[in-house]
Amino acid sequence: MSVRVRFAPSPTGALHIGGVRTALYNYLFARKHGGTFILRIEDTDQGRYVPGAEDYIIESLQWLGLTPDEGQGFGGGPDGPYRQSDRKPMYRQYAEQLVQRGHAYYAFDTPEALEARRNAEENFTCNFRTRLSLDNSLTQPADEVQRRLDAGLPYVIRLKVEPGRDIPVHDLIRGEVVFQSDELDDKVLLKADGMPTYHLANIVDDHLMRITHVIRGEEWLPSTAHHVLLYEGFGWQDTMPKFAHLPLILKPVGNGKLSKRDGAKFGMPVFPLSWKGETPEDSFTGFRETGFLPAAALNFLALLGWHPGGDQEMFRLDELVQAFSIEHIGKSGARFDFEKAKWFNQKYIQASGNAELARLIRPYAEAKGYRTDEAYLSQAAALMKERVTFLPDFTEQGAYLFEPVRDYDFETIQKKWNPAQQPVFESLVATIEQTDDFAAPALEERVKQFIQEQHLKPGDVLPLLRLALAGTMKGPAVFDMAALLGKTETVNRLRTAIEVFNQAVVSAG
Ligand code: GLU
Repeated sequence: MSVRVRFAPSPTGALHIGGVRTALYNYLFARKHGGTFILRIEDTDQGRYVPGAEDYIIESLQWLGLTPDEGQGFGGGPDGPYRQSDRKPMYRQYAEQLVQRGHAYYAFDTPEALEARRNAEENFTCNFRTRLSLDNSLTQPADEVQRRLDAGLPYVIRLKVEPGRDIPVHDLIRGEVVFQSDELDDKVLLKADGMPTYHLANIVDDHLMRITHVIRGEEWLPSTAHHVLLYEGFGWQDTMPKFAHLPLILKPVGNGKLSKRDGAKFGMPVFPLSWKGETPEDSFTGFRETGFLPAAALNFLALLGWHPGGDQEMFRLDELVQAFSIEHIGKSGARFDFEKAKWFNQKYIQASGNAELARLIRPYAEAKGYRTDEAYLSQAAALMKERVTFLPDFTEQGAYLFEPVRDYDFETIQKKWNPAQQPVFESLVATIEQTDDFAAPALEERVKQFIQEQHLKPGDVLPLLRLALAGTMKGPAVFDMAALLGKTETVNRLRTAIEVFNQAVVSAG
């Protein structure tokens, strides 16, 4: 039987990075086993529906290259539609089937009646202890139930959880987890408006879509007891999927689950893409907009809770597919170490080809009105790629490769520059101006020759050249910068620098 898995997010807001990891593990598992990866949108809770959230989910998967074989936004297959609200008419028959089989019942209690019970009784819930004191098809005679159904009175359908039994859940990560049916409530399966709840829709769809493995977050483990009862109720035990509940993602420091608030708190993204909510508190910066490469984000996320053993840390998507197995997913929470995410991004930027980087940094260059030709961008990328962490760094830290120096490091200038050096610096500029071969090695040779002729030391000249071209002591090799900028720009900057240097010394007093 071939593997079929689904990623089944609810469109209730921006997709949290933990959800992305769930999608990734489903994708890896499907690819590893030559199976099918499905995207299903679980939007039965219309009260929590957030416009734009579905598109956000689709765009996140597209950005990361986690393309579903079938699913909402990715083209169909025989099992669509893939958005549960579009499947609404289909679920009622399944809820009714359960009633007929004695595993569910019609419940007529009004919201007000239930509210009154909740107010009167501590921890009131609808379960085997309370259901015989409520208004439902277990307590009303059959003809009265029929009369109400025929009259179109509102009702919900609830799962009838039988007391006094163990419900074992076999989890591929956690082993056997046993739940007591006495602890479970009689979950609503079909709401008064005919919309299924998450539990019913999830099980019916997993069954109809022939899902073989349910890989999802740990927070769904308790619900699985109800899900097992549903499979039993329908008589679908033989094709019940295998379950794998993924460990929590923990805050960078301290205890507890990584929350969306931690992004602002620790100055890091916890969402794949930026999201603009109704309020500033509900607006977030994404991994994409921070300047992550998708491959780096995927590598980082893959290792949050999974490692195949050994020392290897860098895994491209195809290598992740090769190495992936559920057995190597850990039980305990995985810490969200953003420093590690940065490290991965640096590594992936360094490993990228210059032409590829040129393509990636072009939008940033465009936004700043910098030149965007391929040749220039890829040479600039080559000079900066060992030094940056995020994509915008190329044009921010490396702004001087694209525009005249704006920020001079005056403190260093004051240490390095002595106005008495001006004549010799001017003759260096003249020498550079006369150099025909402006390739970095030739230029370097010419300048070093000049240093010798003038009985100077490299330390007298090279820092000043660097400060003149970049404004800072950091950055690429000075002759590489000069070669990239070209003779005219280099000479202009050197001339401008003489004035800037003199000013700096004057203002230092
Ligand atoms: N709709 C659920 C969620 O938003 C899916 C849980 C599951 O995968 O079964 O996470």
